[in-house]
Amino acid sequence: MIAQDVTPNAVLLLCPVCGFDCVHPQRVEVFPVLGHVACVVTHQGVSIEPSDAAEAQRGISIELEFSCESGHVWTHELRFHKGATLIETTIVRDEATVKAQIDPETGTLPGDLTTIWRD
Ligand SMILES: [Zn+2]
Repeated sequence: MIAQDVTPNAVLLLCPVCGFDCVHPQRVEVFPVLGHVACVVTHQGVSIEPSDAAEAQRGISIELEFSCESGHVWTHELRFHKGATLIETTIVRDEATVKAQIDPETGTLPGDLTTIWRD
């Protein structure tokens, strides 16, 4: 399960690895249909970066990257194709990778929790 109903019109996003509900948005990438760039939003701001994604897709795609407070990282990619929108989940950092990469002295991981915006 990647979401839990909160209200009739809202769901709480859960980590697809461990089900934890403390989830942080880390990165948004928008890959247009034409050109060789992508629009990227991270905690460092908004940038336009080189990309060859348009050569491999027929419609726009939007990739949302999240991490949970247990260190797992994943993406939800929305792809528009022939009138339909698909959502694909890809695990970027699973439990085995967390155990292999965690610093035993500090308990931190590389690229740990770089939430786009926080209050
Ligand atoms: Zn998790």
